[in-house]
Amino acid sequence: MIVVQGFAGRRVGVLGLGRSGMAAAASLQAGGAEVCAWDDSAEARERAMAAGLTPVDLTRQGALDDLAVLVVSPGIPSLYPAPHPVIAAACAAGVPVDNDVGLFFRALGRGDWAEMDAPPRVIAVTGSNGKSTTTALIAHILEGAGRPVQMAGNIGTGVLSIDPPGEGAVIVLELSSYQTELARALTPDVAVFTNLSPDHLDRHGGMGGYFAAKRRLFAEGGPDRAVIGVDEAEGRYLAMQLSEAPEDMRVIRVSSGQKLAGRGWSVFARKGFLAEWRGGRQVASVDLRAMPGLPGAHNHQNACAAYAALRALGLGPRQIEPGLASFTGLPHRSQLVAEIDGVRFINDSKATNADSAARALQAFPRIRWIAGGLGKEGGIAALVPHLGPVAKAYLIGHSARDFALQMGETPHEQCQTMAQAVARAAAEAEPGEVVLLAPAAASFDQYPDFEKRGEDFMACVRALEAS
Ligand code: ADP
Repeated sequence: MIVVQGFAGRRVGVLGLGRSGMAAAASLQAGGAEVCAWDDSAEARERAMAAGLTPVDLTRQGALDDLAVLVVSPGIPSLYPAPHPVIAAACAAGVPVDNDVGLFFRALGRGDWAEMDAPPRVIAVTGSNGKSTTTALIAHILEGAGRPVQMAGNIGTGVLSIDPPGEGAVIVLELSSYQTELARALTPDVAVFTNLSPDHLDRHGGMGGYFAAKRRLFAEGGPDRAVIGVDEAEGRYLAMQLSEAPEDMRVIRVSSGQKLAGRGWSVFARKGFLAEWRGGRQVASVDLRAMPGLPGAHNHQNACAAYAALRALGLGPRQIEPGLASFTGLPHRSQLVAEIDGVRFINDSKATNADSAARALQAFPRIRWIAGGLGKEGGIAALVPHLGPVAKAYLIGHSARDFALQMGETPHEQCQTMAQAVARAAAEAEPGEVVLLAPAAASFDQYPDFEKRGEDFMACVRALEAS
């Protein structure tokens, strides 16, 4: 656990008692703060009481009067579509609002870091898609290179739950826009911006707010090095803002598809090869074509981002390459579940928005596509240009009917359940085709999360295998 100093003897509010809230409460208490913890759900409060916390009703009039800071969980809206009443009250009373990520960055660098020969370093990854894959890939490569590494943030462990890092350690954080939006300190050594496409727009008041939330990770005085995906206008804009000159080596530009041979530092993938350029010439290249855990152009983008972040940290290309080759991928992202009678079944349940689903549709030539769930703004309108490889769509969940209306000439049918969709797709698939779950929608209409949806898909495929 990371102990949060600086609040000893002071009252600190913790709003939201899920994983990150509970960890924040424990870290604050360990630093001597008096924690006033609250969650709107009675069930969460009971869990907190079982863990030794005494809930304090922060919604009560005057409850915030003597708070030093209010620490909130990422799931709680702070501004749009409407601020949570406790956050609104904190804003009105001038109580600073922070989150576990802000506390984490403030806690870093204290204690024995000054005596270390190689103080710990932090790499933080944000972006719309590819964050988890890039984060896990960076951690995997570091492990292979023999560096002590811990992964935290939006992926698995909460930032305050990691062990205090020692000599030469690297902490790799995945940060969502909900986390970067609010953290009052964001000072990684290397910050990565994978890409940007519309998502979570209701929480950020539109695309501008969404980009602004992510951009906070790169605020002036922030990271020593910034790795920026420049395949969208926002990434190019951010890279421009962070560069003092075209040859500024503090920014590493990354692309999947474009040759970036300018005067600065860049890493890009083209025709299956990763190339690193510096000062107008190529300095290294890696063949990505045979890397089984990184299929498709989107994963080549992730490979470039991870490679660039590690180069920024001082690793050599030959230290990075073996880790790229041995990475097996994460569950629910382009995950090969089985091959039955020449038909491959791929679980990409994490494709919860149109852009990630579009990438999945581009990765295979002929697809039986299982899609639908809780549709996002615009449904699958953005996917219409990518439907060429779709032999037929099998639509599930709440959005099945809306998606059907947007399918145009592409064959499709509405299925009631995942089991039915898998059975129908498998029955109609020809050898060489892929049955792909890439929902382009959230899972919450039918499942608690995308993992459970992916597990259901896999169970249906396994049942087919066994029959
Ligand atoms: P995140 O943590 O940002 O959600 P993940 O690595 O979990 O990213 O991948 C989320 C979804 O996006 C998956 O469906 C995955 O196949 C797809 N994906 C992965 N990397 C990229 C990328 N660079 N660009 C677009 N889609 C991607």
